[in-house]
Amino acid sequence: MALMAVPARKTSKTRKRLRRTHYKLQVPGLSACPNCGELRKSHRVCPSCGYYDGKEVVKVK
Ligand SMILES: [Zn+2]
Repeated sequence: MALMAVPARKTSKTRKRLRRTHYKLQVPGLSACPNCGELRKSHRVCPSCGYYDGKEVVKVK
């Protein structure tokens, strides 16, 4: 059976909301820092130890 577009007014609030229950915000890629083990965003300098690619890039207190 071919599905066709349905007029917006025919889609109830419930239908619309039920469909959107599958839409989620994606958490940006987090991985453990190989130096200190803290979670940090991949391809970013670690905010807790300042290391990136095995070297200290930023001084962190
Ligand atoms: Zn780190």
